[in-house]
Amino acid sequence: MIGIRAPAAALDALPGELARVFGVACHVRTESLDPEFAYDRSRGQYYSTAILQRMQRLATPDLRLLAVTSLDLYVPVLTFVFGEAQVEGNCALVSLRRLEEEFYGLPPRPDLLRERLIKEAVHELGHTFGLRHCDDWSCVMSSSHSVERVDVKGSEFCAACRQVVRR
Ligand SMILES: [Zn+2]
Ligand SMILES: [Zn+2]
Repeated sequence: MIGIRAPAAALDALPGELARVFGVACHVRTESLDPEFAYDRSRGQYYSTAILQRMQRLATPDLRLLAVTSLDLYVPVLTFVFGEAQVEGNCALVSLRRLEEEFYGLPPRPDLLRERLIKEAVHELGHTFGLRHCDDWSCVMSSSHSVERVDVKGSEFCAACRQVVRR
């Protein structure tokens, strides 16, 4: 796991939780990458697919690499994305930006932010195991286009999705 301009406090619970959910060790790596190449001046946002491609250089085949960032991310067809992952690849990216209450003009809620980050990190890593979006609204793989939907879904895989990850 690497941070790209992400505050350490928001990340503290994540490695332990990922290790628990996926049943593997999770290490925080100190290297980062300069994301300026992915900046779109007209949108004021960073192109997540380009960052994922660059992350590939830091990845090795035997592990999955998750990056957490405070940058606001987009893909061309959408206004924004909470994150993106390479389906059946080994890189995943999550943004804290729109998971923070401050983005919506509300006071900070660190516990809620941690919970949302865990859900979105598990979700994006789920894609790297080949999972698509799940119709079960309580499953962490259900799609979230708003932070309200992130709050409604659970932080765990449903039985069907869990089986795919186990394989
Ligand atoms: Zn997704
Ligand atoms: Zn599911």
